[in-house]
Amino acid sequence: MGEFDLIERYFLNPARSLSQRAANGVMLGIGDDCALLQPAAGMHLAVSTDMLVEGRHFLSTVDPYKLGHKALAVNLSDLAACGAKPLAFTLALALPRADEAWLAPFSQGLLALAAEHNCELIGGDTTQGPLNICITVLGEVPNQPAQALLRSGAKAGDDIYVSGTLGDARLALEVFRGTLELPIEAFALARARMETPTPRVQLGIALRGLASAAIDVSDGLLGDLAHILRLSGVGAVIDTSIAIDLIAIQAENTPARCHFTPQKQLEYILAGGDDYELAFTAPAALRDAVQAAATASGTQVTRIGQIQAEPGLRLVDGLGQPVPNRYTSFDHFK
Ligand code: ADP
Ligand code: MG
Repeated sequence: MGEFDLIERYFLNPARSLSQRAANGVMLGIGDDCALLQPAAGMHLAVSTDMLVEGRHFLSTVDPYKLGHKALAVNLSDLAACGAKPLAFTLALALPRADEAWLAPFSQGLLALAAEHNCELIGGDTTQGPLNICITVLGEVPNQPAQALLRSGAKAGDDIYVSGTLGDARLALEVFRGTLELPIEAFALARARMETPTPRVQLGIALRGLASAAIDVSDGLLGDLAHILRLSGVGAVIDTSIAIDLIAIQAENTPARCHFTPQKQLEYILAGGDDYELAFTAPAALRDAVQAAATASGTQVTRIGQIQAEPGLRLVDGLGQPVPNRYTSFDHFK
C-alpha cells in the first residue's frame, strides 16, 4: 500500500454529502494542494493545533480506535473552550509503517468522533517516522459582537465552575503505573475517561455570552486556572470541600493497598491532568443562566470558587480555613 492508497482508503470520507460540506464552508477537501473553505459572514474562524506523541501522550499499547478518538477529542476540547462550533480539521501523521491493522481502527475512531461533531477531515500530511499525530481543528464563533470565550475576561466577584468530573484519567494512569489498584468497574470508568475523553463542545457553545473566561483542563485544574488568573489580572479562592466530590470514583470504593487517601484524591482532582473538562468563570448574577446552559447541553457543571481582585490562588476547606496548596500541574519542560 502506497502513501496515496493509504490516504484514499482510510482518510477520504465519502459519506459526507455536498450540502453537509457546504454547511461547514468546505468547498474543497482532501485531494488537491490546499483545501478551500468559505468562512461564513459574521463569524470568526477559530483555529487550534494539538500534537500527540507516542510515549509522551499515549502508551504504545493503546487501542488505535481509542487513540483516533482521543487525537481529535483533545483538539475539539480547545474549540469548546473558545465556544466555537467545529467545522473541519487536518491530520499530519507520522507512521513507522503502513500497518493496516493499526490504520483501520485508528481512522474509524477518528472519523466516528468527527461525524458525531459534524467536523470534516479536509487534508493533512502522511510521512514515515516515529508515531506522531498532529491535528489542526477549525471552528467558527460569532464576531458581531465577538463571542469567543477567552482566558482574559475573568472579573473579581465572578463564580468559578468546572464541568463534569476531574482526576479520573489520572487514576487510570496511576493504575497503569502500578501505584494504585482499583476495582474492575472503577478502573473501566477511569480508563474510559483517560482513553476516550468527551470534548465539551455543546457546553462551550451554550456558554457564549455567559462565561467571562474559559479554558479546557488538560494539564490539571489549578495550573490551567492559573492561566485565566494571569491573563485576567485577578486571583481566586477554591473550596476544596466542593472540589473533593468532583472525582467520578470515590475513595471508599478502593482497596486499602492503593494509598488512595483524601489528600491523593484532592491531588488528582486539582492537578491530575488529561481531564478535557471546561473550567470557566461567570458573573454571579448569571448563575441561573449558567445552570440552564449546562442542562441544555447535557453537561453537569459545579461551582467551586470565586474570582478575587487579590492576585494568587487560595485553597480553603468547607469552613473557609486555608488549605496548603502543594499541587503542581504538568509541564513538558519541568
Ligand atoms: P502535498 O504533496 O501537496 O503535500 P500530499 O501528496 O502530501 O500533498 O497529499 C495529497 C492530498 O492528501 C492532499 O490533499 C493532502 O491534504 C491529503 N492528505 C495527506 N495526508 C493526509 C492525511 N493523513 N489525512 C487527510 N488528508 C491527507
Ligand atoms: Mg505532503
